[in-house]
Amino acid sequence: MSLHDELVARDRKSLWHPYSNSLASNPLFAVRSAEGRTITLHDGRQLIDGMASWWSAIHGYNHPTLNQAITAQAEKMAHVMFGGLTHEPAITLAEKLVSLTPEPLQRVFLADSGSVSVEVALKMAKQYWVAKGKPQKANMLAFHAGYHGDTWGAMGVCDPDNGMHKLFSGSQGGNIFAAAPPALDSEKDINTQYLAELEQQIQSNHQHLAAVIIEPVVQGAGGMRVYDPAYLSALRSLCDQYDLLLIADEIATGFGRTGRWFACNHANISPDIMCLGKALTGGYMTLAATLCTNAIADTISHSEAGVLMHGPTFMGNPLACAVANASLELLMENQWQQQVSDISHQLLTELSPLKNHTSVSDVRVFGAIGVVELKEPVDMEHIQPLIVDQGVWLRPFGKLLYTMPPYTIESCELTTITDCMKFVCDAVSN
Ligand code: PMP
Repeated sequence: MSLHDELVARDRKSLWHPYSNSLASNPLFAVRSAEGRTITLHDGRQLIDGMASWWSAIHGYNHPTLNQAITAQAEKMAHVMFGGLTHEPAITLAEKLVSLTPEPLQRVFLADSGSVSVEVALKMAKQYWVAKGKPQKANMLAFHAGYHGDTWGAMGVCDPDNGMHKLFSGSQGGNIFAAAPPALDSEKDINTQYLAELEQQIQSNHQHLAAVIIEPVVQGAGGMRVYDPAYLSALRSLCDQYDLLLIADEIATGFGRTGRWFACNHANISPDIMCLGKALTGGYMTLAATLCTNAIADTISHSEAGVLMHGPTFMGNPLACAVANASLELLMENQWQQQVSDISHQLLTELSPLKNHTSVSDVRVFGAIGVVELKEPVDMEHIQPLIVDQGVWLRPFGKLLYTMPPYTIESCELTTITDCMKFVCDAVSN
């Protein structure tokens, strides 16, 4: 048996992969190394990466600057508890995040992963209203087609009907769901009927609502949908009008992916709370952050509880903070805006013709994100090995075939990815 196959066989005995069946032998590929935009398998096959490891590896893999940041930090200390102790990598990171995000966001709570940063955001919102003497404002308004993570509270604000968390819906009652903002269509005006209905829903429920949580401009794992930033501006105004906090989940969209530092910038708004993750460490380590205004932090701190009720063991991990600082410096130095804009144009040129393909229902491109929505869900068991045979790494889910490559992708590599997407469209129509 080859080393590749031996690793896969060992994996199958004891591991359980994301959203997977532990008994089925779904296609699985053992990675030996990853460098730049290339993932190398144990059998020597090389794959051009179209996924940036789920939005995170924006600079590509094995980056010398990021490697150096981690190594240098490991020589000083890999970790130290954050209760009662602090360190330079966390302080610098907080300062950087405050300076990059919209001005009202001044306070940073570091969390272990995107989902945990959402938990923290929800807890902040609830604690804020308790501190204000309005404990009845305890529920959240979230959106259909929204996705905010897999932990318990985060699941409770994900789309209640789609596949992912349907199984658990009902166990997290109280939250309410608005229709997804209408899809971006440059030929259509803003849907005032939609906004009127949203306002109606907020008006009737605001006394029991703590906050609205939304993925700004791009709804990711719940459907890879793009909506007009004007809906986000309108939502900001509604939150102000009806005394609700606005939580922006920028975990997928943050750090340039949509062509601006943060998707909120497209609407020129600031949320009261913002969640960041994924690309924060350039894809090196798990780290997330929940930012909030001084008004929220001060209100909670002056309350009877006096503290924000959260404090994980690995909070502010120095290795993760050091590599996040290095990643942000790389972003600030390099030409990410040009890179994202070039990727966007190329995706539009190369994917748009697929709109007429018999297997395709829609094609959408926004920033460095390209989505081909198929008419039927992909049979992954059949398609995944074919994608790998094309020398590409893509991981479709449901009807969504999509790419969000590292910003450093070369034009010819991106063509290999879009060619593979065309290939998948052909393969599923046969
Ligand atoms: N929010 C959004 C918008 C996400 O895309 C994700 C991850 N797919 C999360 C939250 C959860 O992040 P994590 O997987 O790091 O827990």
